Amino acid sequence: MTNIILLGPPGAGKGTQAKRLVDERQMVQLSTGDMLREARTSGTEMGKKVAAVMDAGHLVTDDIVVGLIEEKLLTEHPAGGFIFDGFPRTLKQADALGVVMAHVGQTLDAVIEIRVDDEVLKQRIVGRYTCGNCGAVYHDTNHPTKVAGVCDNCGATTMKRRADDTEEALRTRMLAYYRDTSPLIGYYYAKEQLSTVDGLAEMDAVAASVAKVLDKH
Ligand code: AMP
Repeated sequence: MTNIILLGPPGAGKGTQAKRLVDERQMVQLSTGDMLREARTSGTEMGKKVAAVMDAGHLVTDDIVVGLIEEKLLTEHPAGGFIFDGFPRTLKQADALGVVMAHVGQTLDAVIEIRVDDEVLKQRIVGRYTCGNCGAVYHDTNHPTKVAGVCDNCGATTMKRRADDTEEALRTRMLAYYRDTSPLIGYYYAKEQLSTVDGLAEMDAVAASVAKVLDKH
């Protein structure tokens, strides 16, 4: 069992790589972004509270996301381990994760930074869509579905685009990343838990680099 964090700016490919690990290694993806979007869709009080913050590209409060993660860690017991995707995003969340992990008797085994460059991110994000059924990730030009509007993976025909995948929200999300999240690179480096992979490589090559880190544990 290996527990890892995928760290990187929006569009780095965290979700894509996480989904591969779920398929290949019996791991469970804990994406706070997905959990928050689900809370919005199901119309919970919390979901309503965070909607505007998310659409603008700002971070929601630490207490909310730490609560979501804590609940999952208490209730899920994956054979392969947890993949933290989009969490932690602040130093406070990173500290809280350490406390919760210790509480449930788990250890954090590796933090994998997926390094990319900003121009590529913009191009990847504006144009991105996912299958509403299985969550497979596509892109208008880089990786369209084979048949327009039909998921290659599951055949569903409902494609979704995120409300915050716009140029304006992306600017805010990048700022939040550099201001609040990128300090985590130094934080985990100092704890000797950080590995870095080249996120500009082909999807399969990135997956191979991620696998190499996992296989060390
Ligand atoms: P993501 O899908 O990871 O890009 O997250 C989408 C949005 O959800 C972010 O822009 C934030 O508004 C919110 N969010 C997701 N994860 C976190 C987190 N760990 N801390 C604060 N806000 C988050």
